[in-house]
Amino acid sequence: MPTELNTYQPGRLLEDLLPPPDPIKIDLSANTFRGSVSEFVEKHMLIDGKPFSFARREYLKPIYDETYPKAQRTILKCARQTEKSTSLAMKQLAYCTLVPWFKTLYVSPSQMQTRQFSSDRVRANAERSPFVHRLFEGKTVSDQVFDKKLLNGSSMYFRYAFLHPDRCRGITADMLCVDEIQDIMTDNIPVIRECLSHSMHKLELYSGTPKTSSNSIEFYWNKSTQNEWMVKCRHCGNWNMLDISVILDKYMGCIRCQKPIYAIDGQWVTTHDGDWEGFRVSQLMVPWVSFSEVKQKQKDYSTAKFHNEVLGIPYDSGVKPITEAQLRTVCTAGPIKLPDQVRGFPVFAGIDWGSGEGETPSYTVLSLGAFFKQPVFTIFYCKRFTGPDADLLKQIGILGQHFGMYQVTLAGADWGYGHYQNMQLRDAWGLDHVAEFEYVSQNIPVKFEASNFRFKLDRTTVMSNFFHEIINKKIEFFDWEQFKTFGIDFLNIDCEYSENRNKMTYLHMPDKPDDSFHSCLYAWLSGNAYYKKLPGVY
Ligand SMILES: [Zn+2]
Repeated sequence: MPTELNTYQPGRLLEDLLPPPDPIKIDLSANTFRGSVSEFVEKHMLIDGKPFSFARREYLKPIYDETYPKAQRTILKCARQTEKSTSLAMKQLAYCTLVPWFKTLYVSPSQMQTRQFSSDRVRANAERSPFVHRLFEGKTVSDQVFDKKLLNGSSMYFRYAFLHPDRCRGITADMLCVDEIQDIMTDNIPVIRECLSHSMHKLELYSGTPKTSSNSIEFYWNKSTQNEWMVKCRHCGNWNMLDISVILDKYMGCIRCQKPIYAIDGQWVTTHDGDWEGFRVSQLMVPWVSFSEVKQKQKDYSTAKFHNEVLGIPYDSGVKPITEAQLRTVCTAGPIKLPDQVRGFPVFAGIDWGSGEGETPSYTVLSLGAFFKQPVFTIFYCKRFTGPDADLLKQIGILGQHFGMYQVTLAGADWGYGHYQNMQLRDAWGLDHVAEFEYVSQNIPVKFEASNFRFKLDRTTVMSNFFHEIINKKIEFFDWEQFKTFGIDFLNIDCEYSENRNKMTYLHMPDKPDDSFHSCLYAWLSGNAYYKKLPGVY
């Protein structure tokens, strides 16, 4: 339970971040302000036509004021309707207004969410504030939905990334805001973060609503200080965490003495060691959601949805796409095979490219398979490119040796990150020997582009089909003792239902790779493409 020692300590003031005066030509004397972001927002921003006030929203202040260097990185884990987007917009506006030449990049999973954020949160709030709006007017400014340039040289970029981070490439930013991070594919985050590489500030502000405990939002939360809004009981002095245990029949109550407790008595308490600053905001602490509404939602919502959207807490359905037992059952192909043992059979390769770099590196994995006994596809060899082999320049040569030794008929590799390497492979082996697989979200399983030998695959559908075929023993692997180091990647995958897209999504935590799974899947798809068994292709 909290003591004075672990009471949350607020961060430094915004002015600490201000660079030395810049020799710029525009007169910014009217735009000077000394104080914290929350003070700036109270003084200069309006909400619903009234000055923004932190009264009864004291919990928001540290979220607004956390600045470099204490919270260079912040993760907000929020229930729905907790002003998450407003907080993100206000913070970006404050920095861009007060720090000349400051650049922000905002990323959400969809074009619609990004458009709405740019127009309804940023533009609308900027227009209501004379202090801020002044910087949005003039010949040198630009006020587009996806790019805004202010009079003081600051810029705001707005992008979206769901399956691919391509639209975020090439942007330089001082502050990266990733919104609805729970719906952005984990593997894209390191690419998006590249935007900060040239910044002297490198501020990161991520936010989202939890789903399962395998979602990437939990990865960042686990690295954070996990600040909880703890509420002291006026009756017995017990400190209560705002989770399901304080939701009593008629009111929010103390878990020790059952007397009513009040969110307004709360304070942030750090509950974990971490180099990210983390805050969980639930509907139990916001003034505009009444207790009776919470009780109604508890009745109407599924348990998972109630935990996620009202409490801001992850909830696991307990359903995994495949279990270790299921995977072991199909490790029936004996030891890894040598080239002589597969002679006479068309051999198919799958390559999942990995950079081998970063905090949680992903490594290139090669898998080889064949239809030794139709209709069963056998994965008989896998290799992960770690250590000296992680060097991408070396990999083309090593892959070439394998293609030669095993006389590979057709290889398939992921498009996107691997596009450049695929071109090199195609130069060496011919376009029609190296298929490219691109994951997309579409309503048919496969679309084929013959001109560049590329297959666009609905990610969820092909992954589901692959799991289904494994469980039904239509795919087998080499002995578990040799395969398990790759098989773990299969077990790292979880599934989540997305209400937004009304479909399942497969995901993995950034520190739990899934590369071997995709590599095996590409080998299997190549085999199916060769025998013209991919639906809708030929
Ligand atoms: Zn009590």
